[in-house]
Amino acid sequence: MARVIDLHTHSSVSDGTDTPTMLVEAAIEAGLDAIAITDHDSTAGWEEARLAAVGTSLTVIPGMELSTRLEWRSVHVLAYLFDPTDAAIVAETARIRASRLTRAESIVHRLSVDYSLSWDDVLEHTQEGATVGRPHIADALVAKGHAATRSEAFESILHPRHGYTRPHYAPDPVTAVRLIRAAGGVPVLAHPATEGRDAVVDDKTLARLVEAGLLGLEVGHRENTESGKRMLRRLAERYELVMTGSSDYHGFGKPNRLAEFTTEEAVLERIIAEGTGSAPFLP
Ligand code: AMP
Ligand code: FE
Ligand code: FE
Ligand code: ZN
Repeated sequence: MARVIDLHTHSSVSDGTDTPTMLVEAAIEAGLDAIAITDHDSTAGWEEARLAAVGTSLTVIPGMELSTRLEWRSVHVLAYLFDPTDAAIVAETARIRASRLTRAESIVHRLSVDYSLSWDDVLEHTQEGATVGRPHIADALVAKGHAATRSEAFESILHPRHGYTRPHYAPDPVTAVRLIRAAGGVPVLAHPATEGRDAVVDDKTLARLVEAGLLGLEVGHRENTESGKRMLRRLAERYELVMTGSSDYHGFGKPNRLAEFTTEEAVLERIIAEGTGSAPFLP
């Protein structure tokens, strides 16, 4: 039987609601054979996930979803099997997380003018040391009764049109792809064709990313549009890129369910063959 592989999941080390242990348990419960733990800009969940998988049937691929920016657009790059002690990766992710913290405080400061919301309210919804993002602010807004769900907070108060949201520091995607390869990792472009973001992989940029070492495109993802997926399949063929599929599971933070999109075994094998910075956590 084909192995069930989901290469994009989040824990409470970033904006997921499951601890790494709960994430591993949920994956086993759902019948998966392999997951990648890909928290935003952090590897802090790797060790707990590795320990949780010992003696089970689940393989855990250590990974990360690196925040990058192309002009004004946020571009996410999945990174697998890199060296988590690589000095350049450590410095860059620390810089992004620090900027995320200042940015979140500034968003909350702006919000507090119009809504009863304090920084302490946000901290209550953030695990110590976690990569802070708008999801934590959204959870605090929900707890204070300003929105019904995390997603609704994103579509209402936190929507950029209301002016509270600010960007954080992020490297450009080409730099990020080079950084990941230099640390022995394997870069895959996350959800590159979401609504209103079809242009993330314009031809010129994609050619530069491929030259920098991009291995693949995350084609199977609930936020990629159908026309976007067709475009991605054509681009994957043209640039000889692998195609992945994954859930982008965030626990209760998003409706995404584990293994709602999956990755073929041969693709995972290719990622493992090219990832030299760390080894998969075998059960
Ligand atoms: P940030 O990291 O602050 O830029 O926020 C982006 C994160 O917010 C993404 O990684 C998603 O997990 C989450 N997110 C974005 N849109 C939504 C939504 N509509 N509902 C729930 N979570 C969302
Ligand atoms: Fe997220
Ligand atoms: Fe993402
Ligand atoms: Zn994600």
